Amino acid sequence: MLAHVTNEVNIDKDNSDLGRSSAEIAIPPEMLPADGRFGSGPSKVRPEAVDSLRDVAGKYLGTSHRRDGVRSVVSRLRSGMADLFGLPAGYEVVLGNGGATCFWDVATFSLIERHSQHLSFGEFSSKFASAVAAAPHLDDPEVIKSEPGTHPAPVGRPGVDVYALTHNETSTGVSMEIRRPQGADGLVIVDATSAAGGLAIKMSEVDVYFFSPQKCFASDGGLWVALMSPRALDRVDVIKASRRWMPPTLDLSVAISNSRQDQTYNTPALATLWLLVDQLEWMLANGGLDWAASRCATSAGFIYSWAEASSYATPFVADRFQRSNVVATIDIDESIDAIAVAKILRSNGIVDTEPYRKLGRNQLRVAMFPAIDPEDAKALCACVDYVVDAL
Ligand SMILES: *Cc1c(COP(=O)(O)O)cnc(C)c1O
Repeated sequence: MLAHVTNEVNIDKDNSDLGRSSAEIAIPPEMLPADGRFGSGPSKVRPEAVDSLRDVAGKYLGTSHRRDGVRSVVSRLRSGMADLFGLPAGYEVVLGNGGATCFWDVATFSLIERHSQHLSFGEFSSKFASAVAAAPHLDDPEVIKSEPGTHPAPVGRPGVDVYALTHNETSTGVSMEIRRPQGADGLVIVDATSAAGGLAIKMSEVDVYFFSPQKCFASDGGLWVALMSPRALDRVDVIKASRRWMPPTLDLSVAISNSRQDQTYNTPALATLWLLVDQLEWMLANGGLDWAASRCATSAGFIYSWAEASSYATPFVADRFQRSNVVATIDIDESIDAIAVAKILRSNGIVDTEPYRKLGRNQLRVAMFPAIDPEDAKALCACVDYVVDAL
């Protein structure tokens, strides 16, 4: 898949700021990863999944989502998720349209009773907290912050009815172990968008584990999936019974009743569902979440050990226990322009290694999701060395 971009002179308008133009630095083809997609979302979709979609396209795409052809795929999604995450009795798999960003609003209407606590340690976790803070029907949330590149700890408190955690902060490459805070009786709800399917999780520690499918599940965006505990399902009923106004698209009780019938409230993207189920069943066939997490850990091992040994690269996250196995952020010495490196990689078919814009650091950010072959992660390190040498 790299062939068509390799060696082509690209429309790099600001090439002039590089010592040598990116078009001049051609990484030897034998060094290149087999697949050059390292973006943190949308992320690499396995070609086999696209092939399987093509195979069923004539009978599946363009058919009713209220009929068995599509509902059977939603049913596989729901039972497959229950298997992959070893859901305890009474937990349910719920889905709807709009992605994780939309689920923040769903939580604002249907899960938070009055007062929530948020850990804020990067772009995504801070946006969730801001969405809640703006809601007129809720008390001001408690927001516990820490510096980018670290994560804070939740604090169990009376009166907090939801603890909003983020399993992996995609903007900074920090992951945290998910545990119920001591002495907490509020719900633990976790934005697991880039973590779900790539990091270990004990679901008994969580009441709502929600994510979008374009990261570890190697599909396309636009959908949210939420794994919900019986306590969380009860909370939705209690809030609904209080007659709080909520738009139907953000009313979790509506999504729950549709999901129980293997449907969504409004029309879902059928291709997204198919690719998601293909990836889910691929993970299950290979050994489930343990297998997927260890594959990500292998990629992470290659990338962090390369950076630690490098004279110009350093893992941004100093504490090894907070370093993510699904998204690596690698600081680059100030003498080398990381954006220029990413641009040259791009002109060689290795895409989306640019840093998260708002973090504003001289770094590369690399996804290590289960679909990404650890050998490709290793090849990427060698390619970065090659480019830096050549600059
Ligand atoms: C990508 C991401 C989101 C946003 O997902 P959308 O599908 O674009 O809404 C939210 N939270 C985290 C942690 C993410 O990585």
